[in-house]
Amino acid sequence: MSATVITNIATLVTNDPSLRDPDPLGLVRDAAVVIEGDRVVWTGAASKAPATDNRVDAGGRAVLPGFVDSHSHLVFAGDRTEEFNARMSGRPYSAGGIRTTVAATRAASEAELEATLTRHLAEALRQGTTTFETKSGYGLTVEDEERALRLAARHTDEVTYLGAHVVAPEYADDPAGYVDLVTGAMLDACAPHARWIDVFCEKGAFDGDQARAILTAGRAKGLHPRIHANQLSYGPGVRLAVELDAASADHCTHLTDADVDALANSATVATLLPGAEFSTRAAWPDARRLLDAGVTVALSTDCNPGSSYTSSVPFCVALAVRDMGMTPDEAVWAATAGGAAALRRTDVGRLVPGAYADLVLLDAPSHVHLAYRPGVPLVTGVWRRGVREV
Ligand SMILES: [Zn+2]
Repeated sequence: MSATVITNIATLVTNDPSLRDPDPLGLVRDAAVVIEGDRVVWTGAASKAPATDNRVDAGGRAVLPGFVDSHSHLVFAGDRTEEFNARMSGRPYSAGGIRTTVAATRAASEAELEATLTRHLAEALRQGTTTFETKSGYGLTVEDEERALRLAARHTDEVTYLGAHVVAPEYADDPAGYVDLVTGAMLDACAPHARWIDVFCEKGAFDGDQARAILTAGRAKGLHPRIHANQLSYGPGVRLAVELDAASADHCTHLTDADVDALANSATVATLLPGAEFSTRAAWPDARRLLDAGVTVALSTDCNPGSSYTSSVPFCVALAVRDMGMTPDEAVWAATAGGAAALRRTDVGRLVPGAYADLVLLDAPSHVHLAYRPGVPLVTGVWRRGVREV
């Protein structure tokens, strides 16, 4: 197998844990990376790089690990432009919400759903995302949830069963009956296609007791928990995530001191999704408070057609730096190694020997430009599993 060196890198973000103290990003200046097959085999100073058959000149630009987007909802159909437009225009809009997307998704063919999924994946890849998680949750029947997960599993290993997104419209008068379905026949059909189970723990969706029952049932079928927690209001979601050793509590916008303490003393990552606050004009999650308490923080897109229709991790990095108190270094770490931690992965989100050769080349000398030059398409090269895709 022939090796390739990518050299003349002004700033290389490795996220190498052995370089973490004092620099979480494990930065190497004037660096090179050697990849062979689908893996990184060497990183270090360009002057010390081993000889290889192939050479790519990074031209004095920055290289960082491919983004790990650990929270998205990409199996959907339909469009909610009018709902967004009304919200941003201060006009009431009575229809809309998740149920609009549920109706469109149920009505779509499998080919249509997969075409939409692959279009968004290509869009994300062009912006540097090389690993992504995605969820069901717009089917809400046994057949439609199973179909969504089966489709997603063709494109990623990080597939999440979210039958408990909202109570299906058919069960509006019988939420307990819907929880029985989600923990029974729907779980049986979905578990073979998923790695994770998720629940939207929020007023109007599922309360703490329902969420505990759903996640516990999923765990008994071999799925690991993650939770949509404390997005719209204070609630039990974060503490439940810690209690169940969920890989991630996602959103974390409304947190008590007890919630922050619980996260800080756990292996549960706080995944912040600023695209949602941007798209709903809501208050930002306080990343600074979490980081100062010692919580592990991830940044992801929450890409979905209703509340956060962006596939751009760089956009989320810029928001986190501008409005959530993160330093540029912290935001870049959260969008790479943090996302990997939220998926309990050590083979992505870092550029160290043995990790997957998932790399982003920026048209900039430093990763700081992701926040310094917001909205600018800086991603100029993407390698995934050692193959140059962009
Ligand atoms: Zn979500």
